[in-house]
Amino acid sequence: MASDYLIRATAAQGMVKAVGALTTKAVARAKEIHKLSPTASAALGRSLMGAALLSTSLKGKKHSLTLQIKGDGPLGSIVVVADADSNVRGYVSNPGVHLPLNEAGKLNVGAGIGKGYLNIIKDLGLKEPYIGQVNLVSGEIGEDIAYYCAYSEQIPTVVSLGVLVDFNGNIVNSGGYFLQLMPGADESLISHIENKVNSIKPVTSLITEGLLPEDIINLLLGEKGVSILGKTDIKYKCTCSRDRMERNLISLGKKELHKLVDEQENIETQCHFCNTRYLFNGEDIGKLI
Ligand SMILES: [Zn+2]
Repeated sequence: MASDYLIRATAAQGMVKAVGALTTKAVARAKEIHKLSPTASAALGRSLMGAALLSTSLKGKKHSLTLQIKGDGPLGSIVVVADADSNVRGYVSNPGVHLPLNEAGKLNVGAGIGKGYLNIIKDLGLKEPYIGQVNLVSGEIGEDIAYYCAYSEQIPTVVSLGVLVDFNGNIVNSGGYFLQLMPGADESLISHIENKVNSIKPVTSLITEGLLPEDIINLLLGEKGVSILGKTDIKYKCTCSRDRMERNLISLGKKELHKLVDEQENIETQCHFCNTRYLFNGEDIGKLI
């Protein structure tokens, strides 16, 4: 299986920014870690990919982007983090929830997410992070991210995110793209893109046929002169460590830590993103205190 990556490109003399991504392995890894149902695989998979696509706007090495979806549906909330190197990690509150397919025969992510809002938090190394929030349009995630870009960042954007799951719940493939129009793009370019987006097959079908992210961008924008700017690997990668968990415990404060050791012999903490467990015995906690 090919490695995951994204391709950054421009087209139409810089009037269109395009990013295409292949994320099969990252989504399969997320499925394995969190034991995701098919609906949850599609929901978290699309979110991971969406964050990876958006992370291409990060400039600094240490910058990161967090995508939060807070819906009232049975899947609960989703949190995904992507860094400037397109490493992604994430989780969904109720990974086992699966819903019947929707009328179109697709995984019903919208019903799983429900109504609520989407937050994008960018840590750009400044004192305060940048936070943008929009209401969810459909809970299908791609549409919601496109709406966020158009409304919150004033950039007309098309987002397509696909996760194909087989009857056994395995991830067959996953990929997507986003296209953004720069200020001054004319009407004919906009309608050209709309026609292309509406006429091509779903991304997962194209990947099944053997197309790569750069092929998909060419399919969409080839007639408008595509320049490839770069390629970045995408990986599902967690940043947790025992050290970091210690700092989290310390942040609880002395009083709370004393209370914890009085109540139980050992304290176990678990990382939300990768499910790694960290065990601290009374002596460890004593040192932290
Ligand atoms: Zn972790």
